[in-house]
Amino acid sequence: MASSGSRNVHSKKLVMLGQTAVGKTCIAVQFVRGTFVDKPDPTIGAAFMTKEVTLPDCTIKFEIWDTAGQERYHSLAPMYYRGAAAAVVVFDLTEPGSFDRAKAWVGELKHSGEQDCVIALAGNKCDLSPSVSMDEVEEYAEKHGVLFFRTSAKDGTNVASMFEALAEKVPRTA
Ligand code: GDP
Ligand code: MG
Repeated sequence: MASSGSRNVHSKKLVMLGQTAVGKTCIAVQFVRGTFVDKPDPTIGAAFMTKEVTLPDCTIKFEIWDTAGQERYHSLAPMYYRGAAAAVVVFDLTEPGSFDRAKAWVGELKHSGEQDCVIALAGNKCDLSPSVSMDEVEEYAEKHGVLFFRTSAKDGTNVASMFEALAEKVPRTA
């Protein structure tokens, strides 16, 4: 019988990035707790959340960093994402400007020495009617080597599968 204690557990830093109100906190809470919080208190995100993803050969323990809303007032310090093994860059499918902001985040990650960071782009609020072109997003994701998921923190669509896909792609060392 396999003992869970003998499994390799790899702790990995994962950062949530994206414009204010796109749903970063709701996605993290949906993933960690399996529930939708309609109006998350900004301080919910300030708390450090962890969640394990079980893979066939090991367990990835994500240490999820969410912002406490600092992105509303100023850009985030590079300290926030430094050393991240994975990033979820969120935009709101009903808000084209938030996709532009997401592209800027992907660019910043790629040019800041975080080349090894595995990135998932989350087009969130897919339970609403989108006003961002899926073709455009898919083309962008393919060109820049990032994963793309249409998510809904509200009904849970693709939230767990997005984190699982990231867990499969992060380097297993350390
Ligand atoms: P953050 O500022 O990026 O952390 O965004 P929040 O997680 O605080 O969410 C901002 C608002 O969007 C809240 O009022 C949420 O109820 C709403 N929201 C978040 N995710 C979804 C979603 O998937 N669908 C819908 N319809 N609303 C969402
Ligand atoms: Mg938040």
